[in-house]
Amino acid sequence: MIIFVLNCGSSTIKYQLINMQGEYVMAKGMIERIGSAGSVLKYSANGNADVETLLPIPDHKTGIELIIEALTATGGGVIRSVDEIDAVGHRVVHGGERFADSAFINDDVIDGIEDCCEIAPLHNPPNLVGIRSCLAVMPNVPQVAVFDTAFHQTMAPKAYLYGLRYEEYEDYGLRRYGFHGTSHKFVSERAAYLMQKDITDLRIITCHLGNGASLCAVKYGHSIDTSMGFTPLEGLIMGTRCGEIDPSIVKFLMEKKGITAEEMDEELNRSSGVLGISGISSDFRDLELEAHKGNPRAELAIDMFAYRVRKYIGSYAAAMGGLDAIVFTAGLGENSGFMRAKICEGLGFLGVNIDPIANDVRGKEREISTKDSKVKAFLIPTNEELVIARDTLRLCRLKNRKQNNKKAKEKAAAK
Ligand code: ADP
Repeated sequence: MIIFVLNCGSSTIKYQLINMQGEYVMAKGMIERIGSAGSVLKYSANGNADVETLLPIPDHKTGIELIIEALTATGGGVIRSVDEIDAVGHRVVHGGERFADSAFINDDVIDGIEDCCEIAPLHNPPNLVGIRSCLAVMPNVPQVAVFDTAFHQTMAPKAYLYGLRYEEYEDYGLRRYGFHGTSHKFVSERAAYLMQKDITDLRIITCHLGNGASLCAVKYGHSIDTSMGFTPLEGLIMGTRCGEIDPSIVKFLMEKKGITAEEMDEELNRSSGVLGISGISSDFRDLELEAHKGNPRAELAIDMFAYRVRKYIGSYAAAMGGLDAIVFTAGLGENSGFMRAKICEGLGFLGVNIDPIANDVRGKEREISTKDSKVKAFLIPTNEELVIARDTLRLCRLKNRKQNNKKAKEKAAAK
């Protein structure tokens, strides 16, 4: 079965074509700057280097058509025709409370995704544009929506509700939803596999540390708490997002600076976090470089980031009544041994002991704790596209099984 995975942003489309036999990535790439000058298609087949083509890409539909053209081209293509694609898996950021699992796309599901646009105005609209464009280009191919929020739908009300008036939850859906669900699911399952234990016996904290960053408490295979909330702004201090702050600061700053709600939101999302603290960069590579040169603000930003992650680890260990493993993933989690070690500093009391030699690694799946560490620590590169493809395959198989059962019943009844 060949699955086409799509992740559509407002001006980008990331894609992978995966042959599920062996989970082999046949081709992957992205389109950038849709609708502006200098739009570009990046395409790489069979693990070869990216081929970049500059061409006008006015909208997502054209983008998807161009990707299909590249996939089927004589020469660099990997399939003969679009008919070889068995299903499409779409990343959808917000599924609200309605979607606790992935879903086949139909009018009703599109309405459900549309309903969540209000609470995910930056993400769901471009996801929907991608879905509609894909339906126009490949109307006969089954399409599945895989939601970032679905994995966290197992949280209990005590974890997902805020200390606001209950009516605000009922009327506006104000609650913690959590994000990065496909990543937390993938790396927690992978950690259980590496530990050769059943995930239903394990309490794992997964640390997805990229530009956006979140932690998840995965107890016996289910998300019981996560640091992002109603939006991806809550929780950890991130590249440019402030994370958890006293909510009164919002009114205070808006009055002091005479700024609108929109401008305030922009500040909290785009110029806060380690960028705002350091005044240097949102990229931890720059911050580590400057900190090593002795820049005090870079050091402060790194310290604050690590301290916040450590506090969450402590609180999630308490929430789960113990801890068996910690997993680091995403850009920073996979690449910075320095940050992983800093976060785990002082966690010996919980039974976490990092092995400095094992931790000296980048982007490779590996246990990074000492042999005698009570709590195991791992670096596990995330693979959200593979989770989307696997879920799409799972739903397609389920549908086929149901159809076959129905046919068998009809045949039996006709006899
Ligand atoms: P997102 O998908 O949220 O945009 P990524 O998971 O790609 O983010 O992570 C990007 C971040 O990872 C960068 O901003 C950078 O801070 C961090 N990062 C990547 N490589 C390194 C590295 N070698 N050392 C430290 N930080 C790194």
